[in-house]
Amino acid sequence: MIMHLSDSSLFVSTCKIGETAVSGFGLPVSNPATGEILAEVPKFGAVEAQKAVGAAAFAMPDWAAKTAAERGMLLHRLANVIDANSEDLAQLLTAEQGKPLAEARGEVGMSAGYVRWFAEEARRVYGDVIPSPWPGRKLLVTKEPIGVVGAITPWNFPSSMIARKLGPALAAGCTIVIKPASQTPLSGLVWARLAEMAGIPDGVVNVITGRAGEIADVFCEHPAIKKITFTGSTEIGRQLNEAAARNLKKVTMELGGNAPFVVFDDADLEAAVQGALASKFRNSGQTCVCTNRVLVQTGIYDDFVDAFARAVSAMKVGAGTEVGVEQGPLIDLGAVEKVEAHISNATSLGGKVVSGGSRSELGGSFFEPTVIAHATPEMDVAREETFGPLAPVFKFETEVEALNMANDTEYGLAAYVYTRDIGRAMRMSEQLEYGIVGVNEGIVTTEVAPFGGVKDSGMGREGSFHGIEDYLSIKYTCLGGLGT
Ligand code: NAP
Repeated sequence: MIMHLSDSSLFVSTCKIGETAVSGFGLPVSNPATGEILAEVPKFGAVEAQKAVGAAAFAMPDWAAKTAAERGMLLHRLANVIDANSEDLAQLLTAEQGKPLAEARGEVGMSAGYVRWFAEEARRVYGDVIPSPWPGRKLLVTKEPIGVVGAITPWNFPSSMIARKLGPALAAGCTIVIKPASQTPLSGLVWARLAEMAGIPDGVVNVITGRAGEIADVFCEHPAIKKITFTGSTEIGRQLNEAAARNLKKVTMELGGNAPFVVFDDADLEAAVQGALASKFRNSGQTCVCTNRVLVQTGIYDDFVDAFARAVSAMKVGAGTEVGVEQGPLIDLGAVEKVEAHISNATSLGGKVVSGGSRSELGGSFFEPTVIAHATPEMDVAREETFGPLAPVFKFETEVEALNMANDTEYGLAAYVYTRDIGRAMRMSEQLEYGIVGVNEGIVTTEVAPFGGVKDSGMGREGSFHGIEDYLSIKYTCLGGLGT
């Protein structure tokens, strides 16, 4: 172990299948800030995935039979275990993912928040009594856990993306098999240990790392799996959705985005600059709700670009463990190359780099936070998610033009609007084809609100009281023979 953890049992490099910690090799885990190898975890496939689903299916009847209060109590304990070990979990996360420690601490806090929220929601899975159209009968609607859940998660939020799935699944009475991203498996494997520390029975939480396609095939084909929940790219989500549909598995798909950040002339300039900084450069631009396009009205354009470029130039880049660092490395060199390709395409079409623009002198996968002015809809960055620290700034004249530009994408996850005109704020919010809209706010994610997209950004919602519904099936019971 390279990093120092106060509880070394949280450094987990084995998979958990039922009661067994299963070791293996094949997937090296590296620190994107230094290139150091932190661990090697198993590269498992179909055989182990079958076993994990079998273990989850075996554990399911007892877990589902617990009262909602019992499951809620165990989830509260899990949230407390996360809080009690938050510093270790944040260190683990930064080491393998690269984000600044402050952001990693925030993510771990969010994981505890999701688990705690769903601990509470477990007791609010209400049914209905429907007025009967027949005499002597009662019509009851109850909700039941849907079955074993297969979860696949990405590297950009390797802890909280699991929390958003595990929390509602366990609260509903389901058991789960988690497949974390290969680049950040440590923050996923540790969930089995956290569950154990909280007293959650073996088999309820199973975690396996390895060959994604094979594991996903087992999720799509195994009869015990009733629900697949996926967060990742639209491309893989589409494939997975097709495969899941063949066996009629219920799915939640949290996919890619192309978020517009619209600034009107009447906006509070300083607030807009701060909002754009937060929404663009969090996790070095590697979040699905990160601003991908900044759209600014003509009257405020030059002032915004000046102020934004100045603020971006002042950002401190470095290893996530260094004090004061606001932007860590990108996940790998492939991510750096994508940012470079978008910059060179934009500049070849008239874009002007006004901040950053190159790899950082720190080397590796560090990249300078970048702003490009005079962006136009012909550029690749107008259509594709950069998933990196590049902010192209487009110009628009009217509200209608802004709306058309904002909606001119197949994605529909998050959008942001800055204006002090309440009517315009409401019109924009209603007409933006997105699942999430931030008005005069650049960071809006919370466990108490529904998170998810429309169009090619996916289906289903995580968080809030809606977040548990996808893990439940509805049963209608007609209770007859009651007399009149
Ligand atoms: P990705 O390549 O789609 O990977 C996501 C997960 O899918 C990983 O666990 C990956 O495993 C797995 N995977 C790879 N090939 C697969 C296959 N054939 N079948 C099933 N699973 C497969 O995405 P990423 O690059 O990690 O994440 C970035 C993307 O996620 C961005 O597009 C971002 O917008 C999106 N995202 C969306 C949300 C949201 O809530 N809407 C949140 C975060 C991220 P391996 O790691 O083993 O390859």
